[in-house]
Amino acid sequence: MKKLQKIEIIRHSLSHVLAAAVYEMFPDAKFGIGPSIENGFYYDFDLPRTLIPEDLEILEDKMRKIIKSNYRFEKADILADEALKKFKKVNQNYKVELIKDLKKEVKNKKMLRVTCYALRDFVDLCSGPHIDSTGEINPKAFKLTKISGAYWKGDEKNKMLQRIYGVAFATEKELKKYLSATEEAEKRDHKKLGRELNLFSFHAESPGSAFWHPKGMVIWNALEKFGKSLRAKYGFGEIQTPILANNSLWKKSGHWDHFKENMFSVKADNETYCLKPMDCPFNILIYKEQTRSYRDLPIRYTEIGRIMRNEKSGELNGLLRLRYLTQDDSHIFCLPDQVEKEIGSLIQMVKEYYPAFGIKPEFFLSTRPDEYMGKKSEWDKAEKNLANA
Ligand SMILES: [Zn+2]
Ligand SMILES: [Zn+2]
Repeated sequence: MKKLQKIEIIRHSLSHVLAAAVYEMFPDAKFGIGPSIENGFYYDFDLPRTLIPEDLEILEDKMRKIIKSNYRFEKADILADEALKKFKKVNQNYKVELIKDLKKEVKNKKMLRVTCYALRDFVDLCSGPHIDSTGEINPKAFKLTKISGAYWKGDEKNKMLQRIYGVAFATEKELKKYLSATEEAEKRDHKKLGRELNLFSFHAESPGSAFWHPKGMVIWNALEKFGKSLRAKYGFGEIQTPILANNSLWKKSGHWDHFKENMFSVKADNETYCLKPMDCPFNILIYKEQTRSYRDLPIRYTEIGRIMRNEKSGELNGLLRLRYLTQDDSHIFCLPDQVEKEIGSLIQMVKEYYPAFGIKPEFFLSTRPDEYMGKKSEWDKAEKNLANA
């Protein structure tokens, strides 16, 4: 296990402090989980009412009082069954569920022990670690930042809980620096700019799919023209393929086995058809349409591919994570001894593309993963080709 930094321990400990403050404000609250995350922490609660932003200030005040009182984190190592009884008695059904999950994982259920930590009057099921006492927290270096909904265990079938996020640092200066940086980033948030500049919008009727407005299309078309001209220069022939295909194709390509949950499907003529989540199988169909000789190779296709992926609604994020997206996609069919030259040319194309947007591309060599398809010798050769390119 990786050694935790002191600040990570403080961040997680703050989630307990937050929970203790919530318990004070809502004695009927039910508690989910409260891990530390990048720059901070969160805690999920099942509360008798919906939180409002003003609640965060009240909770912060309560947290500062707890910090100032320097309460100890009192550890208790008890039998899981004993903990189960205790949490059942106070109706903490999420904690009860967590203990039951732990019991499922072990053989000797009767002997299973769990750790609980008490902070003032709030007892939590947790494996730790924590700071010794709340006095170790800098009361000026944390802030509760937002409230959002979160399904229990991240599962859409479960109840939606209320999640409170906080950030925490070692010093007040670091906190201020972080807050002003996020404020700047929010000003440049593409979703906000898209709305303000009347470029594109999103609508609940079609989640994860952008609606492009006339001004946005001016940018879109300029981008598309630039990309197309570059790919033409590098010898790619433009193609266009359908969006729907019988799932026999997706079974053959492996998408049906590995990617089924992310594919939209429809029934027609008593058959299942899927909206394409990738363009590759369609490109291969065009390639295979004729008998090819080695003299025909390399063949380079490029396509403005409109694809659909059934991303979870909670993960959709502006133009960064969509259900309906456009790929300026390319596929190259070539002989093994042409790979090196083709990759070299691709790298050149990328080097020409991104600087137009002020982005300096960097290249990393990815090698064979533990799970792979094909022969090891082919992988070795491909890796060598990539490295040379
Ligand atoms: Zn803990
Ligand atoms: Zn592809």
